Amino acid sequence: MSVLIRNARVIDGTGAPAEACLDVRVDGDEITAVGAGLDAGGASVVDADGLALMPGIVDTHTHYDAQITWDADLTPSPALGVTTAVIGNCGFTIAPCREADRDLVMRNLTQVEGMSIEVLRGGIRWDFETVPEYLDMIAAGRTRINVAAFVGHSAVRTYVMKDAAVERAANDDEIAEMRRIVADAMAAGAIGFSTSTAPQHNGDGGVPMPSRLADDRELAALVGAMAESGRGVFMLTKGNRTDVPYLEELAAAAGRPVMIAALLHNSTNPTGTFDELEQIAAARARGRELWGQVSCCPLTMDFTIASAYPFESLKAWAPAMKTGRDALPGLLADSAFRDAVKAELAEPAGVRLFNGEWEKLEIVEVARAANAAVEGRTIAELAAEAGAQPLDWMLDFAIGEGLETVFTAVLLNSDVDAVGRMIRDPNASVALSDAGAHLTFFCDAGFGLHLMGHWSRDLGVLPLEAAVRELTAKPAEIFRIPGRGRVAPGYKADLLLFDPDTVGRGPKRRVFDLPGGAPRLTTDAVGVEGVWVNGRQIADAGEALDGAPMPGRLLRYFNP
Ligand SMILES: [Zn+2]
Repeated sequence: MSVLIRNARVIDGTGAPAEACLDVRVDGDEITAVGAGLDAGGASVVDADGLALMPGIVDTHTHYDAQITWDADLTPSPALGVTTAVIGNCGFTIAPCREADRDLVMRNLTQVEGMSIEVLRGGIRWDFETVPEYLDMIAAGRTRINVAAFVGHSAVRTYVMKDAAVERAANDDEIAEMRRIVADAMAAGAIGFSTSTAPQHNGDGGVPMPSRLADDRELAALVGAMAESGRGVFMLTKGNRTDVPYLEELAAAAGRPVMIAALLHNSTNPTGTFDELEQIAAARARGRELWGQVSCCPLTMDFTIASAYPFESLKAWAPAMKTGRDALPGLLADSAFRDAVKAELAEPAGVRLFNGEWEKLEIVEVARAANAAVEGRTIAELAAEAGAQPLDWMLDFAIGEGLETVFTAVLLNSDVDAVGRMIRDPNASVALSDAGAHLTFFCDAGFGLHLMGHWSRDLGVLPLEAAVRELTAKPAEIFRIPGRGRVAPGYKADLLLFDPDTVGRGPKRRVFDLPGGAPRLTTDAVGVEGVWVNGRQIADAGEALDGAPMPGRLLRYFNP
């Protein structure tokens, strides 16, 4: 099957200047020629009409591990221009998993994925136990876009340690067993090893995600097991304990790239991320390949007080995660609980999501029609009017609405100058869509379109060619993905045709299409005219094509 895309403005992914009036020929799954006035010879012709053609977006921070088992489309990423998704970030994978531990693994995921246990129970297809079996299942099934998968620390730990995975450090035998699993996963084609030490990563009932219980010895052993394969990226979402100098030691011992998430700008600690980027720069100058993973989206979350993710990294909030729904209003009304939360918010910020910026927290949707007047207003204003302390006002209001009020908080990454600086930092990689996770809290699956539209075109923070490189060739190089991320002969035909004058992501909206009709947030593509994966068109003018092919592949061979 051959396609000739005629008269495109080609942005090839390397950062080189765009070239107008070029034709791109695709034979089978590969780009075979790029040039002016190519012969159509037997190919079907698509007239690009001067629009821009770039490599498909490589989204290196997603969480489709569960969803991919019931939704081979990986909705909504393909329509948003993503042609390769790396799953299994932060250590949150569903493989390996024994039948007896499935509920344990699912309960751990509910909190961090923003999906209910019913969605996961109803949705996940458990046709595997080990990581190699999970990879084979994806490879044998058909997916809309290409997928690469991390072996995830929390699942590995649960597999070896069962309930003790969330209680204690591992002993020598357990570490040896975990090392074997990581090594087998790498041999079977995992893209690397992922973990999290971040305090906001909690499972059901507020128990920490298993990886948070690992000590330095365990982490070094598992990163070492990955490195012995001669391949792999070590990715982690970082908490306070694993600072950059410590990660540099790990990188030095392993000789592998380390992707450090999530560097988000915090207005209450404005130099924090820049200090870390400087430490990363210094480590890179010493020959360690460290990268800071940054986001080009403000971290905005919708939430209810019954599932208040922005507050869940506070130690003082832990009792609320352990308390059942019926007893929760009583706890939230308790002054000792409130005093503890207020005291912790008054401490200087370490790694946490909400930092007491009440002017950035507002009411989106009330539960009682009589309260409609407060929709769209901030907690800072409403509390000031009532002469109340903001936390007290918010909790009292939520209790009065049966904890069903929907709030939204602009938590981090909202300072335009600071985020612009982070995006341009040569030690940073723009990613962090978290697509497939936090589904009721936010949707940044369209981050690539946002980088090109908002940051490049509207704000002029970086040239379009640089934005395209950031989304394509650069992540492909960092993650050692061969043959993708460029528009050039010999590369796989993963392509995105778009209008630079309009490209962007639409407003967020709620849809109810998860298993059992559960809700998730999504956004639509703007200015996308076509998406191809391995030479086959999968989306048209911003929409996934009905009945389109499933040309995605499991990527399991990586450069050293
Ligand atoms: Zn993540």
